[in-house]
Amino acid sequence: MAMAMMTMRRAVALGARHIPAAPAASSRVVPLRHMSADAGAAMEKILSVGLLRTQGLIAGKWVDAYDGKTIEVQNPATGEVLANVPCMGSRETSDAIASAHSTFYSWSKFTASERSKALRKWYDLIISHKEELALLMTLEQGKPMKEALGEVNYGASFIEYFAEEAKRIYGDIIPSTLSDRRLLVLKQPVGVVGAITPWNFPLAMITRKVGPALACGCTVVVKPSEFTPLTALAAADLALQAGIPAGALNVVMGNAPEIGDALLQSTQVRKITFTGSTAVGKKLMAGSANTVKKVSLELGGNAPCIVFDDADIDVAVKGSLAAKFRNSGQTCVCANRILVQEGIYEKFATAFIKAVQSLKVGNGLEESTSQGPLINEAAVQKVEKFINDATSKGANVMLGGKRHSLGMSFYEPTVVGNVSNDMLLFREEVFGPVAPLIPFKTVEEAVNMANDTNAGLAAYIFTKSIPRSWRVSESLEYGLVGVNEGIISTEVAPFGGVKQSGLGREGSKYGIDEYLELKYICMGNLG
Ligand code: NAP
Repeated sequence: MAMAMMTMRRAVALGARHIPAAPAASSRVVPLRHMSADAGAAMEKILSVGLLRTQGLIAGKWVDAYDGKTIEVQNPATGEVLANVPCMGSRETSDAIASAHSTFYSWSKFTASERSKALRKWYDLIISHKEELALLMTLEQGKPMKEALGEVNYGASFIEYFAEEAKRIYGDIIPSTLSDRRLLVLKQPVGVVGAITPWNFPLAMITRKVGPALACGCTVVVKPSEFTPLTALAAADLALQAGIPAGALNVVMGNAPEIGDALLQSTQVRKITFTGSTAVGKKLMAGSANTVKKVSLELGGNAPCIVFDDADIDVAVKGSLAAKFRNSGQTCVCANRILVQEGIYEKFATAFIKAVQSLKVGNGLEESTSQGPLINEAAVQKVEKFINDATSKGANVMLGGKRHSLGMSFYEPTVVGNVSNDMLLFREEVFGPVAPLIPFKTVEEAVNMANDTNAGLAAYIFTKSIPRSWRVSESLEYGLVGVNEGIISTEVAPFGGVKQSGLGREGSKYGIDEYLELKYICMGNLG
């Protein structure tokens, strides 16, 4: 973690109710003259609408780390430093929790209609700042502008959806077993939520949690990834502008284990919702046991994409290309293993390679780019390790297979043939632009290979047979199945995994249940 001491910033340890507003953030913004022309122009645009926030948000105030430490936020396409944000830890997190806890008592008393209106306004503000948010995302995460704009729409859709859903949190009346009693079920907000999110979807992974949490009256402490805090802070700024009360949404970032521990140890935090790696998810689940928190986990995947002999080749190529190469292969639902039936293997491989060759690698700010850089050097080294492991065990690189000539963390879109189940490319999430092709003979063999993993997030199948679509979909041990479709996420459908890919669901009418407790009320002696 790159850290730099902030000048002239005193360490302050204050209770949540006395958090001072820090001075203007301009000192944390790297002078635009130090940036490449396109990044500078993008930053200028973001600055012009006041959305370059470089401090944490606690109790409605923008604050620095109490010891003045900062983290650099870098552009993965160029390595240039975009801004410095506070490197916060347990003290700031405790204050954020205290602020969320005291605000819970007022926010949860707002009527559903009032909460709905504030969320709707937040949605409108996100949409009206679509371009600036997308620019921020491209700058700090690297994804192409077109994908970033898509993520803003996708991320905003959770706020809109849960603004509507806020008004539909119905309870129940249960037919009583005794004539003088009435039995009721109320749905009430869980309380303070700790939300920890990854860098690959800097906006949507936050709104998918914060939307339903705020809709039902919870308050939230968000910890975005150290790699992509700027999008999170800009979104939080828009939430304040929308009238979400100070303290209902707090944002801290910096020392992840310290922030995580503060959230886990607090008895005031009643729920942890996490999106990220399976390893960290397991730690958070274990750490939640001591205070018996509710837990939702959206963890890593190892998606199979099964192309049957009877598939429409064009549909299969288009779908698997989209499922594999979105965000340069850095999504949890990316096709990680492309299983191709023998009869179609050669034909599919030829068409797929041709499609991959058309992907344009570059800086996400350039309009023609369809593949941005990987998030950092460690991500590239992981890809290299997986490729070396596969080739040492008999796989053949059919396309790409090395760092891109652009340098930095750019990697060539890659296709690897003859991958088998003893290779890392089969067993683990590569999280990069590498498509492993794996031949198979029978439907049963394909399903067995697909399920031969501890992950269970997304799976894809391509076939023209309706009976096969049903049978295979039902046999796949996955939370999401795309049939003849490579992009399946939407705010109206439940998103989540089985096995070690996670617990709970996000989005849809089911997603709100994760933030609610049921209360049974027995009214007796009614005569
Ligand atoms: P990660 O390393 O687990 O980080 C995720 C978040 O956890 C970040 O905010 C990180 O902070 C924080 N963190 C790391 N160690 C922590 C600790 N000890 N205590 C508390 N928080 C901690 O995952 P990532 O590399 O950002 O994301 C990639 C992974 O996310 C992939 O496995 C992908 O499949 C998964 N993912 C899953 C879904 C889904 O919906 N299932 C969606 C997107 C991504 P810092 O970044 O500041 O260190």
